[in-house]
Amino acid sequence: MRYRIFLLLFIMLFVLTGCAKTAGGSDTLQPQASISAPAAFEYGEIDSILDNAGPLYTYLLYPHTGIPAIDPEITNWASQLYENAINDVTALAVTDAEAEGELNVQYNSYLLGGAYAGIEEIGSYINSGMAHSLDFFKTFNIDIAGGTLLSNDQILDASKTEEILKLISDKLIAIYPDEAGSLDGLDMALFDNIVLTHEGIKILIARGTILPTYLGPQQIGLTYEELGDAYILPDGHAVPPASSEQYPGEASGQNPGGDSATIPPPIDPNRPMVALTFDDGPSAATSRILTLLKENGGRATFCVVGNRVENYADTVSQASAQGCQVIGHSWDHKDLTKLSAESVRVELEGTADIIEAANGIRPTMYRPPYGAVNDSVKAVSQELGFSLINWNVDTLDWKTKNADKIYAAVMKDVSDGSILLCHDLYDTTADAMERVIPELVAQGYQLVTVEELLSFSQESVVPGNVYTAR
Ligand code: ZN
Repeated sequence: MRYRIFLLLFIMLFVLTGCAKTAGGSDTLQPQASISAPAAFEYGEIDSILDNAGPLYTYLLYPHTGIPAIDPEITNWASQLYENAINDVTALAVTDAEAEGELNVQYNSYLLGGAYAGIEEIGSYINSGMAHSLDFFKTFNIDIAGGTLLSNDQILDASKTEEILKLISDKLIAIYPDEAGSLDGLDMALFDNIVLTHEGIKILIARGTILPTYLGPQQIGLTYEELGDAYILPDGHAVPPASSEQYPGEASGQNPGGDSATIPPPIDPNRPMVALTFDDGPSAATSRILTLLKENGGRATFCVVGNRVENYADTVSQASAQGCQVIGHSWDHKDLTKLSAESVRVELEGTADIIEAANGIRPTMYRPPYGAVNDSVKAVSQELGFSLINWNVDTLDWKTKNADKIYAAVMKDVSDGSILLCHDLYDTTADAMERVIPELVAQGYQLVTVEELLSFSQESVVPGNVYTAR
């Protein structure tokens, strides 16, 4: 089963790479500038593969469930996907030394009454030989008590296939009335990726699977009511969430440092200072880092991914209450240099909006994903009043995932005025901070926000400019 999906993905990569080249980059293939809904994290803890160094820039998120029979399935899927994409970019590099790619995969997880969970991975891949990105999906449906993955046959009654296909085709025709002809002879085998949600079954259809490629991917929802007795999972949606049930996002937002706002210590401009920055959160690790900062009288800057903020709004407001700075890191971690100016605008404003909704403070800075910037990104940033914050010390925590190595990387390169790059996605990063934060303080460094650090710089902070240190 898994092999077949990888094979399909490989074929799709191949076909779309070829097709994109002949399509000549037609503008009609570009998706409209918009941001996705805030992500749902109701089940599992976050795990990830990040690659900030290229040539395959990667932001690949997936959940860790703690179920022994399931985690290897998800992890293997993720690492195989990453490897396939690496191989694809490597193959491209044979004829183009500058070849690079971007793999962006995010997930939503839905918890249905504690009995079942649905996970949808939504991905896109692009390389420098493609005119537009390849969208793809992967779903996992989980029987939590049984500790197993559910097959489609356990969710939908195979003997009701005709009825289910009719529901799907009616919904597609309602959206694409001109495409009725493409929907003759629909086959349930086309729908590998179905996911359990609170409202019903969502069917994720990759670009070009059923409808013409230029129409993009489709997502069709069939409510439990519409499905009727074609839906056969016992009590799948009937069980209300138990009152003790805590979703990971909510659990992490329990004001880790307490409710009381703390008054940041005054900064002595004559003493050394550094700015710790944490990208890609918030996550459960953020709360641990906030507690460490509070205990040591330090502050940091959190560069948050917009679609994660709603689930961790309490964490964001707690960070602000502790005197930390919260800035954007785009809505969904896309490489902004590969987006249209309008899409960049939407990414930056959408993220600033949701941060402001969480903590009441509209950011005036952001960190571009991968630190990637070009003239167009700078121009949009200037127009919107954002300065861009990169770094001069990379702790490589995304690569080593090793607390000792992260600690060593900080201590080797830190100096007065540094902006340090870390990621509050990993327990290993939080583990490292248990030593890094007290040690920096012991060495006489003041732990300040980027905004504070740059306020003691010779030059004033200008929208559209990129800053890497004081
Ligand atoms: Zn990032």
